[in-house]
Amino acid sequence: MPLRLPFTRVHLTGREADYIARVMEANHFAGDGPFTSRCEAWLQQTIGSTRALLTHSGTAALEMAAILSGVGEGDEVIMPSFTFSSTANAFVLRGARPVFVDIDRRTLNIDPAAVAAAVTSRTRAIVPVHYAGEAADMDALESIARDAGAMIIEDAAQALLSSHQGRFLGSIGTMGALSFHQTKNVASGEGGALLINDPNLVERAEIVREKGTNRSRFHRGEVDKYTWVDIGSSYLPGELIAAFLFAQLEQAESITAKRLALWDRYHAALEWLEQEGRLVRSASRGNGHIYYVLLRSIEERTEVIDALRGKGIYAVFHYVPLHSAPAGIRYGRSSGTLNVTDDVSARLLRLPLWPDMTDDDVDVVAQALAVALRTVTTT
Ligand SMILES: *Cc1c(COP(=O)(O)O)cnc(C)c1O
Repeated sequence: MPLRLPFTRVHLTGREADYIARVMEANHFAGDGPFTSRCEAWLQQTIGSTRALLTHSGTAALEMAAILSGVGEGDEVIMPSFTFSSTANAFVLRGARPVFVDIDRRTLNIDPAAVAAAVTSRTRAIVPVHYAGEAADMDALESIARDAGAMIIEDAAQALLSSHQGRFLGSIGTMGALSFHQTKNVASGEGGALLINDPNLVERAEIVREKGTNRSRFHRGEVDKYTWVDIGSSYLPGELIAAFLFAQLEQAESITAKRLALWDRYHAALEWLEQEGRLVRSASRGNGHIYYVLLRSIEERTEVIDALRGKGIYAVFHYVPLHSAPAGIRYGRSSGTLNVTDDVSARLLRLPLWPDMTDDDVDVVAQALAVALRTVTTT
């Protein structure tokens, strides 16, 4: 069966090739050129962060945030187990220990009660992950962080243009990390951005991103030569990536609107299956990044994935919880039970969702899912 409905596809806005051609004409390929500036200005104006710095990945943005947070040996960073390795890796690379806590059953976001119970005298940071672009309970987390003297770093990799009570995600914590990986709503293949909401961190962030040099100040004419002043690495993308990304960002709002319309269509099409107790629908509308359903068991999910694949429909599961992953066991520790995480990660199924899907495509997937659930042999 040929591939008919992939899990995800990047929506091309039509300007990408033109902008890339301009980079070639200008012969400026290294980072921090005009398209990098345009992307950063767009992010600052739209999201409302003090400073946005493009990075070559969401992972790189998290690594920069970990360096800037100042965590080190003996410090603890509280985060959900239900996330991608990069959330934890960034802090492990600084010598800190991730403390994995459970998620809320409805939103699949970090459970504030579990966070409060995990706080110790070593806690330095709390890292909510806005799963599927749905906001974590930021009010509760801000109050816990204040009491603990910890900073909040938002893993907003999936959350571009999602908001929480009028504030864009990524602009609420001390820092936020965005991803523009091919699989995200706005994509440049690999790509990301660090959002900085504390003006005191901006200068050091520029240094960390430029191999530990004060090159950014040199370019602004603030120093007459640049030199190695701090730790850092090479975290900035080249201009070809930034040019592609800017074409995407210009259309970010319409891309989000299309995804939300498809999300709503899935939600309506699957309502009867939920009423019949066959599945639980997503409660994470956010920015339309993911439409997921919870099936009844891992065995049923495996059968459904195979049945859909037989029809050319690519539905996929998601995280292997970090608390049970080999590196999670080696470098982290768990706090409290992780029952929701274990349960949900075994039963969650993500359905195809990309801006150029049609309403008919959504109906085909919903129909095929209903058929697959009728014919499964396990529950
Ligand atoms: C995608 C993602 C990342 C990593 O982003 P990259 O750009 O792929 O490095 C980190 N955290 C979460 C929650 C993500 O979804």
